[in-house]
This record gives sequence, structure tokens and C-alpha cells, in this order.
Amino acid sequence: MNIERITELYDLFNHEIWGKIPENALKALIAWGIIPPEGKLKCDKGHSLRLVKSSTTVDGWVWRCTERYLKGHKRAGRCTFSQSIRKGTFLDRSHLSAYQILAFSYLWCGNLPINFIMKTANITGEQSATDWNNFCREVVVFGSFQDTVRLGGPGKIVEIDESKIGRRKFNRGHWVEGQTAPVVQLIRYIIEDGAQLGA
Ligand SMILES: [Zn+2]
Repeated sequence: MNIERITELYDLFNHEIWGKIPENALKALIAWGIIPPEGKLKCDKGHSLRLVKSSTTVDGWVWRCTERYLKGHKRAGRCTFSQSIRKGTFLDRSHLSAYQILAFSYLWCGNLPINFIMKTANITGEQSATDWNNFCREVVVFGSFQDTVRLGGPGKIVEIDESKIGRRKFNRGHWVEGQTAPVVQLIRYIIEDGAQLGA
């Protein structure tokens, strides 16, 4: 995500925390590699999908095939295939708005305290536990694949401080004391082979 300040993100979304993604923000999502560019995704018949406005989806956009094709005998039909813009992306499976997810990830990568992040991204407590869990996981996976940054390497020591990874706040939730948090498992996964793991 190529921004210097959180206010740039806020500007990009026309100062709307919830609701439809403005066209400029959508372009930024494509430029940042969060949403694939047009022409990359195909429908089940192999036609290229286009990004079109949608009044029925939360983000205000949908991938749609608008191809005409010959259906059966002589009647021309229109391909009706459509797909969520979030499907298969970093934004998938979240109840939060695109702005909230981006704000969260941006601040989380800056190592800011979770309470501060929640407040800044307008994320309330009730929806947060699951989402926070998913985000940590996806931010790590997404960030690592995006930048192809691997930690460690042969002979290097990588230390994981599990107390810094969300455990404190949500230790009543999805994993229990003594069990490894999913995000830690994933961090271990992105660490290069041959690195020694510190506790
Ligand atoms: Zn199609």
C-alpha cells in the first residue's frame, strides 16, 4: 500500500468509512495488487470479466461478464456470470468495509497498539475478535507474498514474541493458552528454511 499517512487513505475513500468504494480507491486497490486488474479474471466460459458498478453489493462494484454468446441453437444470449470483487483477495470473508480493512492493515503494519487501531479504523469490539484474527493472519500472508520478503535464512535466528501478536486481547477467543496462535503458525511458515527459531 503506497501511502504515507492514514489521512491519504481517508481522502482516497472520500472520507467515507463505510459504504461503496470510490472509483479512485478502486484504482488504488488494483495498483496495490489487492484486486486483480481487468482482463485477468475469467468467467466459467473463459470470457474476461469487467469491473462494473453494482447497487446491490456493499463495495458498489462487481466482476461481471458482459459477453454475448450463442446459446444452444440460434438464440443469442448474454453471459450472466458475476463474482464479488473480494473473492480470493485479502478483503474476502470480512464484514468490515474496504476502508476499515486497509486502515487496519496499514496501522497494524506500523506496530500501533490494537486499541488505537480499532478506534482509528472505527472497528467496534463485537465484530473485532474474529476479524482481527483473520486480519493478522492475512496481513502477514499478504504482506509476505506481496513483497516476497522472507524472514531469516540459513543460520539466522528469528525470534517470535507471541505476546505481541494479538494474544493478549483475544486470549478468550479462538485459541487457548498453550496452543499456538494461527498467526504464529503462519509466521513460522514464511520464515525461510534453515533459520533457527527463538522462543
Ligand atoms: Zn462469460
